[in-house]
Amino acid sequence: MRLSRFHLSTAREAPADAEIASHRLMLRAGMIRKLAAGIYTWAPLGLRVLRKVEAIVREEMQRAGAIELSMPCVQPRELWEESGRWEKYGPTLLKMRDRREQEYCFGPTHEEIICDFFRSEISSYKQLPVTFFQIQTKFRDEIRPRFGVMRAREFLMKDAYSFHLTQDSLGETYQAMYGAYSRIFTRLGLGFRAVAADSGAIGGDVSHEFQVLADSGEDAIAFSNASDYAANVELAEALAPDMVRPEPAQALQRVDTPSRKTIEEVSAFLKVSPQQCVKTLLVRGVEGVVALCVRGDHELNEVKASKLPELGGESVLAPEEQVLAATGAHAGSIGPVGLPGDVPVIVDRAAAVLADFVCGGNRDDTHYTGANWQRDARITRVADLRKVKAGDPSPDGKGTLEIARGIEVGHIFQNGDKYTRSMNVTVLDDTGKSRTPITGCYGIGVSRIVAAAIEQGHDERGIVWPEPMAPWRVAICIINPRNDPAVSQAAESLYAELRARGVDAALDDRGLRPGPMFSDIELIGIPHRVVVSERGLAAGTFEYRGRRDAESRQLDRQELLALFGPAE
Ligand code: ATP
Ligand code: MG
Repeated sequence: MRLSRFHLSTAREAPADAEIASHRLMLRAGMIRKLAAGIYTWAPLGLRVLRKVEAIVREEMQRAGAIELSMPCVQPRELWEESGRWEKYGPTLLKMRDRREQEYCFGPTHEEIICDFFRSEISSYKQLPVTFFQIQTKFRDEIRPRFGVMRAREFLMKDAYSFHLTQDSLGETYQAMYGAYSRIFTRLGLGFRAVAADSGAIGGDVSHEFQVLADSGEDAIAFSNASDYAANVELAEALAPDMVRPEPAQALQRVDTPSRKTIEEVSAFLKVSPQQCVKTLLVRGVEGVVALCVRGDHELNEVKASKLPELGGESVLAPEEQVLAATGAHAGSIGPVGLPGDVPVIVDRAAAVLADFVCGGNRDDTHYTGANWQRDARITRVADLRKVKAGDPSPDGKGTLEIARGIEVGHIFQNGDKYTRSMNVTVLDDTGKSRTPITGCYGIGVSRIVAAAIEQGHDERGIVWPEPMAPWRVAICIINPRNDPAVSQAAESLYAELRARGVDAALDDRGLRPGPMFSDIELIGIPHRVVVSERGLAAGTFEYRGRRDAESRQLDRQELLALFGPAE
């Protein structure tokens, strides 16, 4: 590509609302332009990168045996009614009407559509197992679109769906997809981990996320320092403490704690450690409110809580009036002692082994000290309710947990018959009997990968791409202030030679001064830079610098070409 005929549009500054490095750099490099909240144009430079990611994803999906198709973005309501998700998917689903008042949504995912396709195309066990995939635009009306294409509303996803008659067959394809994902992220040059995950709203049993490790990641990952255990913090089990609850030693006593509401304030005021306090949250239950208790230094894991049968699928704090009605106090002074008998008290494993603890007094500005389970407060049930933290024992019994942040770039699920049953998908088995197949589904955030790679690879000068994702592998910069034809010719000939060798090269023939030219090439992250100048020509060399190198080197033509592998 000749940059004089390309559309490059770089900027020194990024808009103030771009919070993280990848967002700032994608804007400064001119890779994306915002159209509306969470909706972006991929400018030509960004699109080159996106297409490279897409190509690797496509190649590995095909290598793993998946078959490509393309399904519509606009999807009729009726299909979403069949699966029961028209209402259940919630406000994230963008709905619209056509001129005939027919209702549609813009697809946030395609389980409904693939099931509909499958039932009209496939009727026999002989056609199974089968995996279809597409690389296609999705729309999710995210509550907080942010970080550019990292959490967008419109984004590019690779989604794949597999159909099976047996769990063994699903397990095999799941493993094949796990392998394909590992190859994709390895080939892309990303530092990643596959972690056990919550299967969330899509449902099913087994699920893994592929997380690119980066401090700005929205997800927290727990992994063992002594084994290959790794799980999203949402899922990671907090083991029960290896101890029995001591007998009560203190009497229950109500104490004044004026304006002390948080655990930090209360524990500092009463001079006890947060570990000796119980934090109580009242949440909305299936019937009335439910009290959830965790140790003062622990945090409630809302995903675990939402799975409690008493909560019915979501964990939402009870509104103030309900809290007042149930406890007589405001949040900040509530506790398990003396709660009405119809309020279930569900206690985390670590809080359940405390004796003589501090908790809210169920009267504003008071707490109890010397509180004890059973003697003073009911336990309806002990459960794993808290988020794990660094230093906790690993759930597999090997080593302790560390916590890192990650960006979810891929997610694979086994769905069982969740969609095929509700959507009446059947095939005939080898005895002629009608059977409901089971499915797996496998997503990759193709556009998010671009941002995630920048989070992992950047410095103060700009983007540092892994080579397979770079918009070009090498930039040939022409420095020719006096328009010496020999300089241009040398650059042109090097450009032609690299292209003939299959190297994706850019010729910077924009006629810029070296300063601005080099800052552009560094900002957009081209891995290799070659400078062709009068001075170099006279010495018979090219000035070469790798994007991560501290210094440039003078190389002759053969040495330079050798950097890009042997001629084909
Ligand atoms: P998240 O937890 O980040 O909201 P998700 O679990 O809802 O994602 P999936 O339904 O598993 O996402 O979608 C598959 C992949 O699509 C995700 O792993 C992620 O890489 C990507 N993705 C999901 N939502 C977005 C978004 N709003 N913007 C960009 N990529 C997204
Ligand atoms: Mg996910």
